[in-house]
Amino acid sequence: MLVSAKEMMQKARAGHYAVGAFNINNLEWTKAILLTAQELQSPVILGVSEGAGKYMGGYKTIVGMVKGLIEEQNITVPVALHLDHGSYEGCYKCIEAGFSSVMFDGSKYPIDENVAKTKELVAVTGEKGMSLEAEVGGIGGEEDGVVSMGECADPDECKAIADLGITMLAAGIGNIHGKYPEGWPGLRFDVLESINAKVGEMPLVLHGGTGIPADMIKKAISLGVSKINVNTECQLSFAAATRKYIEEGKDQQGKGYDPRKLLAPGFEAIKATVKEKMELFGSVGKA
Ligand SMILES: [Zn+2]
Repeated sequence: MLVSAKEMMQKARAGHYAVGAFNINNLEWTKAILLTAQELQSPVILGVSEGAGKYMGGYKTIVGMVKGLIEEQNITVPVALHLDHGSYEGCYKCIEAGFSSVMFDGSKYPIDENVAKTKELVAVTGEKGMSLEAEVGGIGGEEDGVVSMGECADPDECKAIADLGITMLAAGIGNIHGKYPEGWPGLRFDVLESINAKVGEMPLVLHGGTGIPADMIKKAISLGVSKINVNTECQLSFAAATRKYIEEGKDQQGKGYDPRKLLAPGFEAIKATVKEKMELFGSVGKA
């Protein structure tokens, strides 16, 4: 069922596990993630970037697809449909389209403006029963052509935003989007600890989950991380499985060119990646 992320976040925070937020790109992605969540009885968040929103034909198209799959595939676990790194305008579009959750990424604004815009969105999403994620401190790497240098969030600024009544807070702690470069020094657990100490029971969000070693993920969860975003890892496993199928010449055998056959190995690869992450995050059986 389509729900806001509020209850699943509070349960995860209290239960010391994290809910995976998996970015979707098309029907295969969405179906693979939903079926895996149902099989494992795990809550799940479907993340949609603004770029992926355009790619899939608009936010209303996505709401229709997700609601249809939930109904026709009998998905009974809690599912949140969430705008990832939304602009101010993008948040309003998704609220209108019927998303159940949005992230307002105001990290590029001066803190006062980030606070003002986040506060306004707390009221608007609250009225609709939606969850809201806010961000403090840019997260490094490249996402949809926007390059952020990545900075550690200031714990006092985190508290200022957390106190506005948001559902969950993304804070930069040395994490970056995409593949981690060689020589990456790791997550800044000292910063995470000071943020966690300031924000009380606020569920924290870790972006850039691809390639962070399992022990760091577990430590981050123990320090209040309740939502972990996974995007690149599903893309890599989908691409590798599809490449293998084509390199083995299977698309040229029989009706191997049929998209239902051509995309099947990638679909299974996404399922395997999502399963692995849900097991690591501890969300299996928590639906
Ligand atoms: Zn992110």
